[in-house]
Amino acid sequence: MKLPLYFDYQATTPLDPRVLETMLPYFTEEFGNAASRSHPFGWRAEEAVEKARAQIASLIGANAKEIVFTSGATESINLALKGVADMYGEKGRHVVTSLTEHKAVLDTCKHLEKLGWEVTYLEPTKTGRITVESVEKALRPDTVVVAIMWANNEVGTVNPIREIGALCHAKGVLFLTDATQAAGKIPVDVEADHVDLLCLTGHKIYGPKGVGALYVRRKNPRVRLTAQMDGGGHERGMRSGTLNVPGIVGLGRACEIAQAEWKKDLEHTSRLRDDFERRVFAEIGHVKLNGDPDHRLPNNSNLSFAFVEGESLIMGIKDLAVSSGSACTSASLEPSHVLRAMGVGEDMAHSSIRFGFGRFTTKEQVDFAIEQLTTAVRRLRELSPLYEMAQEGIDLSTVKWQGAH
Ligand SMILES: *Cc1c(COP(=O)(O)O)cnc(C)c1O
Repeated sequence: MKLPLYFDYQATTPLDPRVLETMLPYFTEEFGNAASRSHPFGWRAEEAVEKARAQIASLIGANAKEIVFTSGATESINLALKGVADMYGEKGRHVVTSLTEHKAVLDTCKHLEKLGWEVTYLEPTKTGRITVESVEKALRPDTVVVAIMWANNEVGTVNPIREIGALCHAKGVLFLTDATQAAGKIPVDVEADHVDLLCLTGHKIYGPKGVGALYVRRKNPRVRLTAQMDGGGHERGMRSGTLNVPGIVGLGRACEIAQAEWKKDLEHTSRLRDDFERRVFAEIGHVKLNGDPDHRLPNNSNLSFAFVEGESLIMGIKDLAVSSGSACTSASLEPSHVLRAMGVGEDMAHSSIRFGFGRFTTKEQVDFAIEQLTTAVRRLRELSPLYEMAQEGIDLSTVKWQGAH
């Protein structure tokens, strides 16, 4: 086995070799600009882009005309939120979102707040879910858009998207969802789920980095948005700039594969993940699942290990590429904003680790991970006076600490 082993599929995925193969010609002989209308180089590039557009649309139940290419989910989110804010600012200046969103949504909302918009940040349940009731309570006559992620990237919790979408449509409010972790892994259908704007990215579904898509509904209702980048008027004026043809071809192929194989991937990853959790709970003890046991991505396992310190644990499992706290903020020692919003205590947030499973994870890799994890946790607990006290039956919540902060 080649170490370290990759267990960070929520951060990014390796390119599927079939995707690479489809992309390769578009770096070399098929180098045309998809906007060149006067010769076959351009025509063939455009044809490839349109094929990819149809493949992406098909995965999410959309029409190809409703897909706009971007540089990834972050850009799709920015374009969607700022684009509708610019377009519909007359109607009102209120946004509803949640505390568990990716920073791309939260920071874009902060930007809107600076421009005078009001944003309601919904609190999740203890398992990280946003309830349709909480959305309903937050809606106001001046609400323009509701932005709730399909599935959370840290704890994998899946939100009741269809119910939230139906509510928004009934109330005449636009519904945006960041489906970066959901598309290609669980069923996503913009019609049945009442989605108006949907964001996804290539590199979370075995496609290339730096390419993503934004779905913009064209009827019932027809959603309009203001471009955030000025230029040649590509993508029906919504996103200027010469298209990344190889990337787009790769994203399309990744969506095609996901549509054909998502069930197989789901069964593969959930079998490995469930087996992993069963054994970790049995062999290690004092482990807590962060997330929703019933509404969760099939490939995510976010666990907190009591009586160990997060940084030491990460060092103890150095042959496993995992993420602690939050992938995006773990450089700082701030506990994850998602776990904090879910009410996870500071200690348990600091000792949380996200294990991600994917298309290329094997049983042997999982066996190795369990062994290394078990050894590391046991070794750290042997050094922990708190663990010793807990083993002696002392209720730690009643202990008065010297110099506690
Ligand atoms: C990875 C991720 C993003 C950002 O995607 P990029 O393509 O890297 O910009 C946004 N939202 C969620 C939920 C993600 O997991």
